[in-house]
Amino acid sequence: MQNVKERRTCDHRCLCLCLQDHIKIENEDNKVQPQKVHMKASSTSSLLLLWSIIFFCFPAQRAAAFQAGVFPAKIYPGDAFMVRVSGLKGATAPSALLNKRALSFSNCGRGCFVAVAAVDLNSGPRTYQVSLRAGKQKRVLRLRVLKGRFQTIHLTLPEEKVSPCVEDLERIKKEADLLQSIWEIDSERLWEGDFVLPLGNPLSTPFGTNRVINNETTSVHRGMDIRGTDGEEIHASNRGLVVLTEELFFGGNTVVVDHGRGIFTVYMHLSDFNVSPGDIIEKDAVIGYVGSTGRSSGPHLHFGAKVAGINTNPISLTRLKF
Ligand SMILES: [Zn+2]
Repeated sequence: MQNVKERRTCDHRCLCLCLQDHIKIENEDNKVQPQKVHMKASSTSSLLLLWSIIFFCFPAQRAAAFQAGVFPAKIYPGDAFMVRVSGLKGATAPSALLNKRALSFSNCGRGCFVAVAAVDLNSGPRTYQVSLRAGKQKRVLRLRVLKGRFQTIHLTLPEEKVSPCVEDLERIKKEADLLQSIWEIDSERLWEGDFVLPLGNPLSTPFGTNRVINNETTSVHRGMDIRGTDGEEIHASNRGLVVLTEELFFGGNTVVVDHGRGIFTVYMHLSDFNVSPGDIIEKDAVIGYVGSTGRSSGPHLHFGAKVAGINTNPISLTRLKF
């Protein structure tokens, strides 16, 4: 990651020499009484020059003072990253674009703003540019996406879960529309500090795994599976607002938590819920219990994350340090 340094400069030397000339005239004039009027005019000129310095020099120095970076600067397809801008003098948030999509900044202290974004699982390996604007200044930040390596696994599931009937297809479409309407919410920041994993057990199926189901249908795993036993407590990854507790065709009993600024975490296949829509929950709160509802081959937690509408590797979200 490389910052483009601000190149605006101020010609102090010219203004300082001019000011010295005027001070010299004042000193000479001070000795001669009849030239009092000229001395006042000269003082006014000096003041004007001082104001010129304030107006023309100081804004350039102030604008160049902020720092900006992408963290981490190297990621894999489907990973989250953050843009942090600090040292800004005003209260106005900066703006940034990645692939023509606007990033959503939130305040992280005095003169500090942070935006969390993600790159799609299908992103090719190359350097991407984040175009940042703070006031009148522009910078280009660089983000390197490395080549992703995702494994392929084979699963066996009941046929009705793999080839849904017409009725089920209608239900699946309705649920997809409902979820899509949730991903479009851009609320105020609710998360506090780092995101954590909701269950302290080993991972079973990583994010991005290609799944061949019953030797024919293929799907990409857009979350991570964590091992669990029936009834084990599942904890909220961060503070947020519960926006969904529904039994979905694929996800079974599903909880979606809105953490604000386009960040959501998703918890699927639960045996039961411990929260309701509209609840503001703190990090680590028990939101439900491990189960095997929906399209599942045994008790486990499917943990997903959405960032600005992009299916995101939840592990990468937990690695961001706020
Ligand atoms: Zn899963």
